[in-house]
Amino acid sequence: MIEKIRISTKNRNELVDITDEVKKIIEKNKIKSGIIHIFCPHTTAAITINENYDPSVKEDISNFLTKLIPYRSNYAHTEGNADAHIKAAIIGSSRTVFVEDGRLAFGTWQGIFFCEFDGPRTREIWVKILPG
Ligand code: ZN
Repeated sequence: MIEKIRISTKNRNELVDITDEVKKIIEKNKIKSGIIHIFCPHTTAAITINENYDPSVKEDISNFLTKLIPYRSNYAHTEGNADAHIKAAIIGSSRTVFVEDGRLAFGTWQGIFFCEFDGPRTREIWVKILPG
């Protein structure tokens, strides 16, 4: 079964920490050991793992991507969100994390982020747990 996390983003570009929502799914399903796959079913958003202790890190990632890949440029895709598609392709649509002792097996400073590149929108994140 796929679990779904629903979020509403507030800005065009934004990294949203979804670590607690993922932890809740692990707890709800009483998973002690396994693999959890976090997937973004959108073409202008992505999933990444990075530092969630200092909130300035997510701002730097978002701001620097926008500097590298400008909103307006000579893009072939004329829908007005070509930059968002490119950012989503670079970051990627999913991440996989180990679950051990009922917890995310993470580095001390790591968290899971939903990366919005064409917000604000209502978005879904699909999560699948493989116990084992
Ligand atoms: Zn588009």
